[in-house]
Amino acid sequence: MLIAAARANEQSRLRRLFNDPLAAGLVEAAGSASDLNGVKNLAGDHFVLRTRYFDDQLLESAQPQVVIMAAGLDTRAFRLQWPPGTTLFELDLPELIEFKEDALHDLRAEPACDRVTVPCDLREDWPTALIRAGFDPKRPTAWLLEGLFMFLPPDAGERILYWVSALSAKGSTLALEHVNRAFRDLPQMKAVHRRFDRLDARWQSDVEDPVGWLAGYGWQAEVTHQVDLAARHDRAVPAITDPLKVGDARIWLAAAVRTG
Ligand code: SAM
Repeated sequence: MLIAAARANEQSRLRRLFNDPLAAGLVEAAGSASDLNGVKNLAGDHFVLRTRYFDDQLLESAQPQVVIMAAGLDTRAFRLQWPPGTTLFELDLPELIEFKEDALHDLRAEPACDRVTVPCDLREDWPTALIRAGFDPKRPTAWLLEGLFMFLPPDAGERILYWVSALSAKGSTLALEHVNRAFRDLPQMKAVHRRFDRLDARWQSDVEDPVGWLAGYGWQAEVTHQVDLAARHDRAVPAITDPLKVGDARIWLAAAVRTG
């Protein structure tokens, strides 16, 4: 809801970085996100830049299969111009998917690709559910892991990366977000952590060297700094990612290609 609200907010800007006409309707269907205003004020622009960064990564990689892990209220299946023949899988918990399908039906949303929802628990055997839904591990894939790893215990994150890698044919791409320890420990994040704790969505992990971490699983990765992203899109650097304000604290945005 929080991220969809940031995307809905972007929709009213003249020079917006993406088009998400469904976001506002999904947020409305979900109920008020006002409890999350504090987080939104702190990180709203980060969500906008990150959305555009991942949009660009997914479209540039132009793979026949796209897998969005923990998709939440992501509407990329509807709002991006996919190459003909693209199949896009969305994984999330059954209750989230049920809610989203109802809301999308009410909004008369039409996907711009072959969209397949995969209700599953990412702590359990999601690879089997994905393959049963039609995913083919022999074809290259573009994976997206946005807003996910920090919420997982370290061993669960490793397990997910292990399986993502095992299911990735050569040439597959992966785009992910993570944070470092200094970011988790930022004083500015204290109130956010308290709010996430109340939602039973505590942050549980971090990584210091995402490029090395991904290399260990056969991926050649590159990290993009928000300072460069903001300059590319003529936006102010979001305060929470501005080195002048947060020092070495980082929200990592990484894109990788499967080399092994
Ligand atoms: N990727 C989306 C985005 O950036 O807009 C949503 C990220 S949201 C912070 C985390 C998502 O993870 C939620 O949609 C939630 O339902 C999903 N989730 C949490 N625990 C999960 C689990 N065990 N299995 C599958 N999905 C889960």
